[in-house]
Amino acid sequence: MRYLVDHPLQAESLFRALPGATALVDAEGVIADANQRLGDLTDYALDELVGREAQSLVVRDERAGLLERLRRTLADPADATPWSLTLLRRDGRQVAVTAAASRLSWGDDSGVLVEFVVPAPRQGGGAHDGDDAQVLAASLAESEQRFRLAFEGSMAPMVFSDRHGVFLAVNAAYCAMTGLSAPDLIGRDSKHFTYPEDVGLSEEAYRMISSGEVDEYRYHKRFLHTSGRIVAAEVSIRCGRDDSGQAEYFVSSVRDVTEEKALAAQLSFQALHDPLTGLANRALFDDRLVQARARAAREGYQGAVFLIDLDDFKGVNDSYGHLVGDQLLIEIANRLRRVTRSTDTLSRFGGDEFLYLAEGLTSTDEALHIARRLMATLENPFTFHQVTLHQQASAGVVVWSGESPDNVELVQNADAAMYEAKSQGHGHVALYTPEIGLKAVSRFSLVQELRHALSSGQVMMHYQPIVDLASSEVVGFEALMRWHHPAQGWIPPDVFIPLAEQSDLILELGAFALREALSAAASWEVTDRSAGFPCVTVNFSARQFHDPGLVALIEGELSRSGVAPERLVLEVTERVALVDIAETMSIMDELNRLRVGIALDDFGTGYSSLSYLAALNPRIIKIDQSFVRPQHDKKRSDTLLEAIVTLGNKLNMTVLAEGIETSAQLERLHHLECDLGQGFLWSPAVPAAEASNMLVTGDET
Ligand code: C2E
Ligand code: MG
Ligand code: MG
Repeated sequence: MRYLVDHPLQAESLFRALPGATALVDAEGVIADANQRLGDLTDYALDELVGREAQSLVVRDERAGLLERLRRTLADPADATPWSLTLLRRDGRQVAVTAAASRLSWGDDSGVLVEFVVPAPRQGGGAHDGDDAQVLAASLAESEQRFRLAFEGSMAPMVFSDRHGVFLAVNAAYCAMTGLSAPDLIGRDSKHFTYPEDVGLSEEAYRMISSGEVDEYRYHKRFLHTSGRIVAAEVSIRCGRDDSGQAEYFVSSVRDVTEEKALAAQLSFQALHDPLTGLANRALFDDRLVQARARAAREGYQGAVFLIDLDDFKGVNDSYGHLVGDQLLIEIANRLRRVTRSTDTLSRFGGDEFLYLAEGLTSTDEALHIARRLMATLENPFTFHQVTLHQQASAGVVVWSGESPDNVELVQNADAAMYEAKSQGHGHVALYTPEIGLKAVSRFSLVQELRHALSSGQVMMHYQPIVDLASSEVVGFEALMRWHHPAQGWIPPDVFIPLAEQSDLILELGAFALREALSAAASWEVTDRSAGFPCVTVNFSARQFHDPGLVALIEGELSRSGVAPERLVLEVTERVALVDIAETMSIMDELNRLRVGIALDDFGTGYSSLSYLAALNPRIIKIDQSFVRPQHDKKRSDTLLEAIVTLGNKLNMTVLAEGIETSAQLERLHHLECDLGQGFLWSPAVPAAEASNMLVTGDET
């Protein structure tokens, strides 16, 4: 407590507050100051004590020992072991005490603070002599001493104050925390450097302790450093009481929690927000949804969850790069944020999906109205780095009232509705119904199984012969995918391919189909017909065809199999080709360069105009089965069939008719000068080994 002596007033209050009888002894052993307790104990008046030699206060035998202790303390303040002493009162009576000494420095001077503690009488007994009393006294003095050392050396800011909260002593850490020196601090109370709004907290702490309600009080407050920096702190305050139980002095210790708090705040923001858009993340959304469900159940209104999924967002990343993709996500988040009601929560669910939670709705119409408002934010195009983009989204909405399904189910239902919206094309909104839910469940479990099916060999390629109608010769095969499900048997590609198209799974399946088909083709004996035979045609979905890795994939698989590029034909439907006509044209250029052919599949069912057909210039057009085996309006179909074959011939394309089942159909097509045919008349798709037999024997009719 080295600040003590700088201020006589403060010294006085500190002496007054110290629990033990205390003297400040100078280097010569003369008492420089003493407190009233020492006066009481020795029966001397304070002014009689000051100036007196400290030795005179102890019995003759112990005087040399005392002097020696004082010298040792001055030389080595670390040696703080208390020792037993016998005080000599003014009236000659002797009092056994425990003494503790600590060095005190001020200016160039230093002295020793000696505290004398009278062992407390043991409970139930009046005597304070005897061994027990001495041990107790020694331990008390020891704890006093420990406290003092702890105070001085503590890394934690500590302050010792009187009953009014006026500072009597502070340690160096406290000075550092406030930016004030000890002389500035002593004699003041904490409100001068407490953050103004928190002054009441300190007052409350002192009041709680003073009232005797508690002996220790912990609270959080903010201090103001002289630099203006705010220090967030946890304060622990304790008090010492006099015999009547009145608080006599306070000791506060402070823990600087500024960094801890800042870190916690940062962590909690990071933990709850999406780093790209700054929107709430899934964890925060989940939490809000739990609360919203509880409120809706309690207050009986409706809530809604919207799952918004951008349409073909992958194309943006693929075509313009991730920088533009990220910019677009940020801008979309901003637009959505602008129409988010203050009671609602908008979050990024991951990738190109956003979740919106609306509360306090009174009708389903209201939910649909919100959905339309969210979708309307995408109406205007986005422009970045000279790129202008039109981005649409599909949304699924699930509305609940009162008691609701849990979070997971609500989001799943919104997802099922979103899937339904996607099936209607781009930019649609669908409201969840139980029927949609049922569809989703079977779809979901099938997709899960399909993932494993590929690696566990349940997926394979079969080959359907393609026949030259003039010579009846097998000139190639269409590779068709088959899934043999262990429990459900054969699952048709019409069922599982559209499911796989919803995710990257289609890319895996497509790569598998290409590789298998080429390795089968590599095993087929090359006929002497002409280059490009026997060919193998492989179906490609939109996702695969527009995948930026398409050309590299084909090149790689061709060179791995050693199959001549002319023998490979990609089948794409008109719909796939028309997704982005400009892009399709450039892919076609690449494929032409590789000398890989294109067949326009299911021709006649799409919307391709004549001009597109001429521009795309596919090697083969495959007339859809519905023209070959018309279900109704046979006459009109037949006219169309004739028109398509003629058109193909005129444009110098090879015309292939699918689904030929009867000789009559074959006759008719042959007559129309259709080049190639496929159908059950010859064979359904068969495993690779059987297919190669058809080639070798060459007598399929
Ligand atoms: P697609 O490309 O138009 O294939 C022709 C479909 O007609 C095949 O059905 C074939 O088995 C069937 N078919 C052939 N001849 C006849 C016939 O005479 N009568 C009848 N009733 N049907 C006949 P499949 O194998 O069920 O394939 C259905 C569709 O699934 C395919 O239509 C194609 O779009 C898709 N698909 C099949 N394999 C793959 C693949 O590896 N990748 C992709 N992306 N799609 C595939
Ligand atoms: Mg096909
Ligand atoms: Mg087809």
